[in-house]
Amino acid sequence: MNVLIAEDDGVSRLVLQKALEEMGYAVQVAKDGAEAWEFFQKRPFPLVISDWMMPGIDGLELCRRVRSVRDKGYTYFILLTARDSKEDRLHAIGSGADDFLSKPLDRTELAARLSVARRILDMEHRLREANEELQLKTQALEMSQEMVQQANLRFRELFDNVPVACYTIDAEGTIYEWNRAAADLYGWSEYEVLARSIFDTIIRQEDRALMQELIQQVIHGGGSVVESVDRCRDGTTRYVLRSLFPLHDAAGNVTAGICASVDITQRVEYERELRALNEWLENLAFTDALTGLLNHRALQDKLVEMSAAASHREQTFSFALLDIDHFKRFNDTYGHRAGDEVLRLVAQVLRDNAPAGSLVARYGGEELSIVMPGYGLEDAIRVAEKLRQAIASAPNPYRQITASFGVAEFMPYMHSPSDVIEVADAALYEAKRAGRNCVRPLLESVQEDAA
Ligand code: GH3
Ligand code: MG
Ligand code: MG
Repeated sequence: MNVLIAEDDGVSRLVLQKALEEMGYAVQVAKDGAEAWEFFQKRPFPLVISDWMMPGIDGLELCRRVRSVRDKGYTYFILLTARDSKEDRLHAIGSGADDFLSKPLDRTELAARLSVARRILDMEHRLREANEELQLKTQALEMSQEMVQQANLRFRELFDNVPVACYTIDAEGTIYEWNRAAADLYGWSEYEVLARSIFDTIIRQEDRALMQELIQQVIHGGGSVVESVDRCRDGTTRYVLRSLFPLHDAAGNVTAGICASVDITQRVEYERELRALNEWLENLAFTDALTGLLNHRALQDKLVEMSAAASHREQTFSFALLDIDHFKRFNDTYGHRAGDEVLRLVAQVLRDNAPAGSLVARYGGEELSIVMPGYGLEDAIRVAEKLRQAIASAPNPYRQITASFGVAEFMPYMHSPSDVIEVADAALYEAKRAGRNCVRPLLESVQEDAA
């Protein structure tokens, strides 16, 4: 241990220095208070033994100055003095002295005083270390508290500002966090829904069971993503894609579920519009604009389908082609628009009277057609006859309209749908030749020749 001695009397100084060095102390000697103060300022000493009476800076003043240095470790200050009055000693203690050594020096007393000094310094040292450790721990604690606080704040901010409706619920579906996007989406502000159930707010009655099931899944640690229709405060509904995931505590137990609902209403509506548009376009492609019947292209498709099925399953079908009689004359008399009206009227008569399962199509111009799956020639002629009569007897704002029919049955030797059309067309020609307003098949032999 380093000891600083301040003593103006040379002999006393030397005696003290020797005694200390023999006890194993590293000794720095100063010949007066001023020199001692200089040494001390350069490097503080844990132990100072100073004479009281010195010229210039005396022992008490040196003690006061030493005490004014606070940031370094404690300095144990012993005053060397012949004074032993109680007032003097109390005064010295008031100036910061720790102990006294009587002059002339007694080695045994010196040893005893030094052992007290060492004990006190050692305690002071340990106290200081413990204090430093405590300070470090307090700092670390404060830092981690602040970090937790910051993390909390950041999470809160993120939760509040994320542009997706987020809310947390317990096992019963009670809401206890609700962010701004949720308020925007559903219309309920945070204070209106906190502690309320999702089943009294956003979840519709019909979705209750499913949602309860999903909450049970979350309680057991499982997440889910489902499309749903949610209720809003104003009674409207929104399509949402809802993710529901478990929230865990530090021990890993599920404490709550966190929901995120993305509003997909616009997407769902676009999809619906697109589907309707597609359907409309598809219809447009296969429908005749004037009569609303299947158009020529659709007829061709059906016939291809039907003749393939007929060859394959050996299930026959028949085809009737009809042509309105003297339609040119009608147009010339009543005008093209009246002609259109009549075409629509005839189409409606066919639709109303054609047998279930048959298809009515506009073949082209004023020629219409009926495809009759499962019908042999005989049955098909009967159907055509019924249709002919229906047309002829339909009420008409201009004059009676009649049509001629050619009927054909698809035969196994026919190669393609055009064969059956050709035969029906030939039969129709026969009907026209026979005076119109009648039904004609081609006899099988003729049919075969025609094919
Ligand atoms: P036939 O009894 O021999 O069949 O005599 P027709 O006058 O009906 O036969 P033609 O083939 O000479 O004339 C068919 C007419 O049908 C000519 C055409 O203007 C008319 N037509 C075809 N398509 C339409 C249409 O979409 N609207 C109207 N108004 N007329 C049409
Ligand atoms: Mg014609
Ligand atoms: Mg005609």
